[in-house]
Amino acid sequence: AIYQQSSVDEEQEQQDRQLRPQRMADMVGQRDVIERLQIAIDAARVRADPLGHILFDGPPGLGKTTFATVIGNELKTAVQIANGAGLKAPKDLIPYLTNVSENSVLFIDEIHRIPRTVEEYLYTAMEDFRIDIVLGEGVNARTLNLDLQPFTLIGATTRAGMLSAPLRDRFQIREHLDFYDLDDLAEIVRRNAKKLDVPVDEEAAMEIGRRSRSTPRIANNRLLWVRDYAQSRSDGKATYQTAIDAMKMTGIDALGLDKQDRNYLDTLIRLFGGGPAGIEAIGHTMNVSIDTIEDEVEPFLLRYELIVRTRRGRMATPKAYQHLGREFTGNSED
Ligand code: ADP
Repeated sequence: AIYQQSSVDEEQEQQDRQLRPQRMADMVGQRDVIERLQIAIDAARVRADPLGHILFDGPPGLGKTTFATVIGNELKTAVQIANGAGLKAPKDLIPYLTNVSENSVLFIDEIHRIPRTVEEYLYTAMEDFRIDIVLGEGVNARTLNLDLQPFTLIGATTRAGMLSAPLRDRFQIREHLDFYDLDDLAEIVRRNAKKLDVPVDEEAAMEIGRRSRSTPRIANNRLLWVRDYAQSRSDGKATYQTAIDAMKMTGIDALGLDKQDRNYLDTLIRLFGGGPAGIEAIGHTMNVSIDTIEDEVEPFLLRYELIVRTRRGRMATPKAYQHLGREFTGNSED
């Protein structure tokens, strides 16, 4: 199962790379974030200083990695990519830190997964461009002092709340990426259809955008599926009807929910009487990890007001009942 997970991730990463914007001007939406970043980039360039450290937070697929690579391109500098899950011991940081060239970017995805013992070494690296690593143990322990090139750390997390205050405070720029509106998603679909050389009707672009859970990565995935479907089942043109048929075939409904999203709502309503139910209980019942539910399922359901979070657990809203075609009879609490 673990093997499968990583190969799915690799496939996704390859797909992301193919459609990832390269320059700030190619980014769609997030106008405020882009404007603030542009000012910081311009100022760093004028002063010939490294850009201040940046933290991006928000649900998966909203552009955190894309922003990191775009910033590297705008600064005309190298971007090293690390994942917090791979930084288990202080020594795991050393190759990245010694490889940073002057004013380059080190991107750490899932930075909330770095253990505290490793995190502490990042503090001096970020603040003074220096690390003091203890090698060996007991009487043989020696401290290795390394001077680093000035660099920019860009961290990304889906869980800003899980970061320690000392780490969070060391980022000069903190940006929350929010869900995208329909115009932006349709624009992403149009641009990427052009890149992929797939003819897409205006109504099809809107419908793919509408069914993308307000997330650019999902818009890309839906577009790629509609393309395959159109090429296999018709003349390769993505019309409104082909888009609808393609999405229906993979279980994507009018709100853009997929099978897993509906399974979550169905579990909450049918088995837990609409809630309140704890996330652990829901996860166990669905046989899906709590991380997946918290990162990939719930943010959009919350945004769409299909569920609410209360201190006592998750609750389905009347809108969720209506969407599943069930009569709202009140939650089990009422
Ligand atoms: P995250 O790192 O937040 O999980 P990514 O940066 O990998 O998300 O984004 C996933 C894909 O979505 C990218 O490959 C890119 O094609 C698309 N994307 C994300 N943000 C934007 C944007 N603002 N404009 C255009 N495409 C975007």
